Order: sequence, then C-alpha cells, then structure tokens
Amino acid sequence: MVGLLLSLITLSVSVVSAACTAAPGVGTVALEAAMAARLLLGRLAGVASRPEWHRQCGRALAAQPCAVPEVEDRRAGRDNGHARPRWVDALGDVRSDWTREEVGEVFASPLLELVFKAQTVHRMYHDPRMVQRCTLLNIKSGGCPEDCKYCSQSSKWSKDVDMKAEKLMDLDSVLEAAQRAKAAGSTRFCMGAAWRGPSQVGPRQWERVLKMVKEVKAMGMEVCTTLGMVTPEQARQLKEAGLTAYNHNLDTSPEYYSKITTTRKYEDRLNTLEAVREAGIGMCAGGIIGLGEGIHDRVGLLHQLASLPVHPDSVPINRLVAIKGTPMQDEKLVDSLDLVRCIATARIVMPRSMVRLAAGRLKLSLADQGMCFMAGANSIFSGDQLLTTPNNDKSEDDVMFQVLGLMEKPYNPPKDALHRDVRMHGKQHHQASTVQ
Ligand code: SF4
Repeated sequence: MVGLLLSLITLSVSVVSAACTAAPGVGTVALEAAMAARLLLGRLAGVASRPEWHRQCGRALAAQPCAVPEVEDRRAGRDNGHARPRWVDALGDVRSDWTREEVGEVFASPLLELVFKAQTVHRMYHDPRMVQRCTLLNIKSGGCPEDCKYCSQSSKWSKDVDMKAEKLMDLDSVLEAAQRAKAAGSTRFCMGAAWRGPSQVGPRQWERVLKMVKEVKAMGMEVCTTLGMVTPEQARQLKEAGLTAYNHNLDTSPEYYSKITTTRKYEDRLNTLEAVREAGIGMCAGGIIGLGEGIHDRVGLLHQLASLPVHPDSVPINRLVAIKGTPMQDEKLVDSLDLVRCIATARIVMPRSMVRLAAGRLKLSLADQGMCFMAGANSIFSGDQLLTTPNNDKSEDDVMFQVLGLMEKPYNPPKDALHRDVRMHGKQHHQASTVQ
C-alpha cells in the first residue's frame, strides 16, 4: 500500500517537476509539497519498501577496497565486513556525532555514488540551482607574523615572494569595493587582514574595521571577516557591529597542522571558533587540500568540522594554489576529482552548511565546476582576485551560470529557508542555528 502511494507521489513529483522546467517559478510549491510527502512516506515505509538494488548498494559500499586507513582498520575488525553503513540509513540527518571512521567511509565511497548521495542531501536543504556569489577583499595585506606555509603574506618569506606589507585600507575604499561587488551580483562581502589577530593592532585600526563591518552590512549584504585569532570580547564587538560570519579555517587535520603552521596551535583555531559561536556570529570554517597531506588528513579535517558542537554555517573548500617563494611552491595541483570528493563528503556530513568552492577554481574547467555543484557546492568567490591569488573572470562565471542553468542566490537571511526545510522534512535537528 505504502509502495503504491510512493509510486503515485513519485509520478506526481515527475509531472510537477516537468511543469516547473517548462514554466520556471510555476509549481515550485506543489513540487516541494510532493517531495516532502514522498520523503515522509519513504521514512514511514523504512527499509521494507526500499528496493533490493538499494539495499545491495549499502553492502557494495562497505565492501569496496579503500585507501583510507581508518576505514580499513574498522573493516579488518568486522566479522562479515558487509554491514550497511549507518550513515547510508541516516543520510541527510544533521549530526555532530560523526566518527572519523564513518567520515572515512563516506569519503571512500565510489565517486559517482558519493556525488549522487551528496546531491540527494543537497536537495533536502538547498535549492540545487542557487549559487551564492561572494567577494573577498584583502583590507590589509602582507607583513603577517604567522608562518602558514602556503601563504604569500607571511613576513617570514616576504622577500622570496616579493610581497610588501601594506597598511589597513581606508574606510571609503573598502565601501567602494563593496558597492562594486554588490553591483556585480555578490551578496556576501568578506574582508581579510593579514594579522595574527586584532590584539596585534591599535584601537584606531580596530575601530575602523568595526566601522567597515557596520557600513557594509548597511548596504544589504552578508558581511564576513577573517582577521586571525579573536578573543570573546572582540567577537562580541564584531557581533554588535553586525557581522554575519567570521572565517577561520582549520586548514587540515589536527595531526598535520604543525606541518603547515608552527606559530599557533590547532587548539587556538578551535578556541577562536568557539568565541565566534558564543558571540552568536555565523562560523565560516573549512580547509585547503593539496598541502602535501594524506587522504586521512582530508578525512580528519572534515571530521573535525562535522563534529563541532554546531556545524559551521559556511565551509570553504580550497584547492592549493602554490605560490612561488612560499615553502609550498612545489606542491602539485590536486586533481579536480579529489576536490569533488572533498566537497561531496562535506555536503553529506554537514548537510545544512553553505559549501563554498573557494581558491583554486581558476584551473577548473566548466565541467569540473559543474561536478562540484553536483557534489553540493553552492557558492563561489567572484571577482578576478582572491586574497592573494587570481580568480575566475566575472564574464566567464556569467557564462557558467547560463550554461549550467544556475541562479544567483539573492540576499536574504538564510533563516527562512532553514525553517522551511525543517518543516518539509520533519527532521530532528540536534543543533541550534547561528545563521544570521
Ligand atoms: S594565512 Fe593568514 S595568518 Fe597565515 S600567514 Fe597568511 S595572512 Fe597570516
């Protein structure tokens, strides 16, 4: 009976979906309602109504040979090694209790299966056609006392990369850049400063940064900053100024972190994220692949992010752009499908977060980028420059939006979408949202 109802609703989803394609904007509500009904019935029907091929799929996944040591260790300890992984049944649930082995299982899935599952999760929480454009501005470049080995802004190798330390930009120049970004379709404006943290600078510069936040927010954009380590008090001041999100990437796994940076600890990163979360600011935290790390480090990074008490609202996934003169200048470019794998895993383990296709996009073909969106990325950085590396030309991105049928995500507080999704899927969310 439930099977028959499911078939009827599936048919109605297809019909309404076809109508939506023929006349965009019409029937979206009906489509959502039909999808919600199908999901709900699917849940009620449980495993019993799942076709045999779907049951087999979980077993096949578990039996796949895999390069992730954690997964192999776990499998070695199993009796039959063919149990259906828990995450397959809990697909789409928002959880902070991911084990590293489980994240490894997700990561090690056959690629197309992984992308399919990621896209399934993506559609539970996000409009698959919407992609947010963000703009990044370096408001104070060079002269950083930290030693992140991938970065050209560290004072440690400034001579080798020919990077001069600049002063903090003035307010008007920043606001002009934000206006230009808005006019070009960006709905999020991120400002980065090459500092160890605001404690390193005097009160006048800090006041200027707070003013930048306030004024950009007043333009009707999401505003994000990346300023290094912040104290709870500094986070509170940023919140008061209207900051939407604070970016602080974990970069890599805890074990590999000391190979990347020696001037601070992983714990320092986590403490800043905690201060940001406590202040009620959205967390933006992701990482970089291509730093010479192993696959288990990529798994370790994603596990760290997914097991934070609240998932980051925003997860930038960067592919290293090796900069001449930095200690990482000879690192090989990571294959685009490895990037896709990381994005898909991030989407599955952090279903509600915005997953941002960040640095390293310039060398991706349009088809590669399409795969990244299929895998669950829903944001790009716009503008021909990131903090220090070149980025895709806006006109190329316009073509990409057109060819892939993407739409620019408009500026609106993401809260509405989140509430709608909670109703639609009837999921039990274990997390309080910090989305602004
Ligand atoms: S990544 Fe940030 S903290 Fe690290 S050296 Fe560059 S500017 Fe400094």
